[in-house]
Amino acid sequence: MFESLSQRLEQVFQQLRRRGKLSEQDVDAAMREVRLALLEADVHFSVVKDFISRVRERAVGAEVSKALNPAQQVIKIVHEELIKTLGEPARLNLSGPKPRVIMMVGLQGSGKTTAAAKLASLLRSQGERVELVAADPYRPAAIKQLQTLGERIGVPVYTESGVKPPELVSRAFEKAQKSGVSVLIVDTAGRSQLDNALMDELKAITRRVTPNEILLVVDAMIGQEALHVAEGFRDTVTLTGLMLTKMDGDARGGAAISIRAVTGVPLKFLGTGEAIDAIEVYDPGRLASRILGMGDVIGLIERAEAAFDEKEAQEQAERMLSGSFTLEDFAKQLKQIRKMGPLAQILEMLPGGLGQMARNISPEEAERSLKITEAILNSMTREERRRPEILNASRRRRIARGSGTQVQDVNRVLKQFRDAQKMFKTLQKTGGRGLPRLFG
Ligand code: GDP
Repeated sequence: MFESLSQRLEQVFQQLRRRGKLSEQDVDAAMREVRLALLEADVHFSVVKDFISRVRERAVGAEVSKALNPAQQVIKIVHEELIKTLGEPARLNLSGPKPRVIMMVGLQGSGKTTAAAKLASLLRSQGERVELVAADPYRPAAIKQLQTLGERIGVPVYTESGVKPPELVSRAFEKAQKSGVSVLIVDTAGRSQLDNALMDELKAITRRVTPNEILLVVDAMIGQEALHVAEGFRDTVTLTGLMLTKMDGDARGGAAISIRAVTGVPLKFLGTGEAIDAIEVYDPGRLASRILGMGDVIGLIERAEAAFDEKEAQEQAERMLSGSFTLEDFAKQLKQIRKMGPLAQILEMLPGGLGQMARNISPEEAERSLKITEAILNSMTREERRRPEILNASRRRRIARGSGTQVQDVNRVLKQFRDAQKMFKTLQKTGGRGLPRLFG
């Protein structure tokens, strides 16, 4: 799901990453691309417009974070505003006397019957005593389908032939009350399109039993048509939530992004496949990360911000440029990197040239080399870390023994450190002009 949109957005962000500093024009150009990508993904026009203006305002504004580079800041803003567009996470309301009734409504073929069974299975795994009701007496095949699914997941299915749906649901409710069922999931009749007879029937059912939830099941693959369907149902019955199905087949994702904002009805579940367990509780944060195709990166951006100590970073930068950067600082930096999480992800995040260099190193190799470096630094005394020039042959042998490494490893770390120092000195001489090439 969202593959095509994710790819487009990833390209936009890659362009941004190449720039060290973002001008208003850079942001505008990026926003034009994002806007196009969203429209192509079939996101509703008004939602796109609103979203872009919110992101733009924040991105060109004075929001400065020293922990993040400009591209990361834009990604962060896009991510946060996307979550806002997707809406608050909404939980199923299962309060009140038992049995609580969940009514599933939707057009034929939307995946309603499958959704009813998926939900039954999910709630049962959470300890509920669930029963399904086949309230579609006009289509024997639909009843049979629910019975088959019920058997497969071990949930009883109530049905009666020759009884109209409102009466049937009412009877199922009374029986469930007596037998201690805690959740009754009603699979109502579907129609190929919105029509009055269907709406009247749904209303008639709600006059007999008061549902805790009326969930509309909509096929995500029909794109913006899903919004019209949802509006049609919403205007007749009090929808409490949405379940978008067939998300696995929807590379664009426009319906999922716009439906909450356009209809005002919260999304509660996603159907992500034909299997019974292919159901996800809707989580805007997770979905936004998935849409941006960079879940890990966003997690890291958050962690980088949390781990960033501005005073410390400032002092280190000053020491680097004044040439007084020591192995002690080096050790501190490694600790800070550690706080951010797995190395492979951190390397991925490095901007520009460094990032490309990092991507050529295997994560295992990088992790191993970091561990060795850490062990070596830990085996040094503070004095040695502050004044590496005192590290003679016998001290190096001791450090290698202490860290379970070889003298060559110790020498390699020292050489890396000297190279870095040299680089900082050059930078200082060129007034930092070498820096953009490295980070840009
Ligand atoms: P109903 O007519 O609304 O009750 O729809 P069904 O539950 O019979 O589903 C129609 C078809 O869509 C069936 O072939 C299901 O297996 C399929 N289906 C339902 N949900 C999903 C989903 O999330 N992903 C995919 N790929 N197929 C689904």
